[in-house]
Amino acid sequence: MAERLQLSPAMVRLVCRIDNAQDFQDIEAPEKYVKLIFFSQATLAATAPGALPDYWEVRDTAAPEDQPVSRHMTLRRTDPAAGEVWIDVALHGSEGYAGPWADAAAPGDRLVALGPGGKWMPDPDATWSLFAGDDAAVPAVLANLEALPVSARGEVVLEVQDAAHELDLSDVAVPEGITVRWVHRADEASGERALVQGIADAAWPEDVSRVQAFVHGEREAMKAARTVLFDQRGLDRSQVSLSGYWAGGRTEDVFQAEKKLPVGKIL
Ligand SMILES: Cc1cc2nc3c(=O)[nH]c(=O)nc-3n(C[C@H](O)[C@H](O)[C@H](O)COP(=O)(O)OP(=O)(O)OC[C@H]3O[C@@H](n4cnc5c(N)ncnc54)[C@H](O)[C@@H]3O)c2cc1C
Repeated sequence: MAERLQLSPAMVRLVCRIDNAQDFQDIEAPEKYVKLIFFSQATLAATAPGALPDYWEVRDTAAPEDQPVSRHMTLRRTDPAAGEVWIDVALHGSEGYAGPWADAAAPGDRLVALGPGGKWMPDPDATWSLFAGDDAAVPAVLANLEALPVSARGEVVLEVQDAAHELDLSDVAVPEGITVRWVHRADEASGERALVQGIADAAWPEDVSRVQAFVHGEREAMKAARTVLFDQRGLDRSQVSLSGYWAGGRTEDVFQAEKKLPVGKIL
């Protein structure tokens, strides 16, 4: 990691140099995600100083309690020619791996990442687009915005804690026809979720037949967003990318495992 930038009180950008940049296989999708790998103390202690463990070898040979832990993160920007990627991480306290690691990261720190993956592509025929997400999905939303045609129209709704947590977007290429609106969790006096209310309040067009919606974030908020997207606005599933990025009170391992259970189903 070459640089750590504090983007807001709860968001840091890690500017990372890729060791083996010639092997990096970029993908077309603007929402690109990687898995950051965190090794156990025992694995790190058994690795030569300055070296990184071999993920596949550790996965195949380590005891269950020493298995590596993985955490999904978006590549906010990729520059394969320069061998550089940006990872913007939401800080959410002392629990977990990725958040605390990013909070304490310093230039020179090294990390193993797998990927990138990602399939969602903006619809070139969309006449109006909605992009919405909480802190964890802000990097994906912004990466998508930068991939839109300059003629794109629509609205972006981003949920953060309060005004102090809004990001400076002056270096983000937001098409002129796209309005960005920040909503604040602290404003939830009514018990509504700010993100979902923000989606409901968007300036939706009368005709939604060529609308696309990309709504990612906390799982229960995604479930609540279904009412707005499908019942109130009448969108078809094919027009919507609705995805949980994390779930309150769950580590990512539990969140991923629950995808097979009714509680984990969003669509
Ligand atoms: C495709 C994809 C892309 C993602 N891209 C990003 C990204 O670019 N940046 C980013 O920050 N996150 C991103 N996430 C979300 C991230 O993977 C999760 O937030 C993950 O749980 C963080 O791991 P952790 O080790 O910090 O916490 P965990 O060990 O997973 O969880 C520890 C505790 O923290 C809580 N927690 C986890 N995340 C949050 C959060 N965001 N806010 C509040 N509480 C939380 C959990 O509920 C749990 O109680 C992405 C997820 C997916 C699926």
